[in-house]
Amino acid sequence: MPNIILLGPPGAGKGTQAKRLVDERQMVQLSTGDMLREARSSGTEMGRVVADVMDRGGLVTDEIVIGLIEEKLTGPVQGGFIFDGFPRTLKQADALGDLLARTGQTLSAAIELQVDDAVLVARITGRYTCGTCGEVYHDTTRPTARVGVCDACGSTNLKRRADDTEDALKTRLMEYYKKTSPLLGYYYCKGQLHAVDALDEIDQVAAAVAKVLDRRD
Ligand code: ADP
Ligand code: AMP
Repeated sequence: MPNIILLGPPGAGKGTQAKRLVDERQMVQLSTGDMLREARSSGTEMGRVVADVMDRGGLVTDEIVIGLIEEKLTGPVQGGFIFDGFPRTLKQADALGDLLARTGQTLSAAIELQVDDAVLVARITGRYTCGTCGEVYHDTTRPTARVGVCDACGSTNLKRRADDTEDALKTRLMEYYKKTSPLLGYYYCKGQLHAVDALDEIDQVAAAVAKVLDRRD
């Protein structure tokens, strides 16, 4: 069971690729963004604390997100875990390493989805997702077959995120460069970094990710 991290700026395609791996390889997606959004919509105390930070595009505290991952990471799962949007800081990366070691697991790759910053505004402002099954769509690059209906589950519960604005993206991208991009060097030094061209079409990116997962080293 390979455990992998998907790394890349907001809009790189982490969630899109994670969903495919869940469907095709029965992997388990752990998205801290999804967990935090769930906490918000279910009105928990933590949800209230993080709402403002998320809407502005800042990072939620390490303690909160590490706690969320710790709850889910009690032991290995059949298909392996996909860490999507976590870790985002060096402290989170160290904590993940400790948690994996403590539960008898290893990391098999940190996969960097490489994009040009110039495409991110269009990707983020065109994004919508199914609120029922989590499938990710885009106004132009990946629209639903029937307007307003999710291809995957047939639900009409399609949503846009409050933080998917050009303004919040600027903050999110700056946070990425200041706090998350050092993780590329971190995983490179551990011999775990693999880059894929994420400017390509979704199927091509998926094939490149599959190649990393299926490598023998
Ligand atoms: P992330 O999870 O990294 O923030 P998403 O997977 O949500 O990114 O993708 C952001 C947006 O870009 C979505 O609307 C998605 O449909 C679209 N998208 C993802 N990958 C590609 C791609 N390779 N080419 C074009 N559009 C893509
Ligand atoms: P995402 O769905 O990954 O784009 O995350 C949406 C927002 O949730 C981010 O802009 C942050 O505010 C917050 N968030 C998600 N994951 C983390 C994390 N690992 N560390 C800190 N904040 C996070």
